[in-house]
Amino acid sequence: MKQGIHPEYSQTTITCACGNVIEAGSTKKDIRVEICSECHPFFTGKQKLVDTAGRVERFRSKYAKFQKEKEKKENAKP
Ligand SMILES: [Zn+2]
Repeated sequence: MKQGIHPEYSQTTITCACGNVIEAGSTKKDIRVEICSECHPFFTGKQKLVDTAGRVERFRSKYAKFQKEKEKKENAKP
């Protein structure tokens, strides 16, 4: 390796907003992230949506209604 052209690679800690700290090798120091493998819904299987305006709930109820209507129509067929 050439000297002086490579950033220094060392152990660092990645701190997540959930409080999880991950040790990793990086050229950066003290990385802060908002989501990590410990709290991301993909890994936890839990839903963690910040739904302040209730938009998700509204969509869900609307969608459920739509599904019911669809079922009704399908059942009405001979
Ligand atoms: Zn996290």
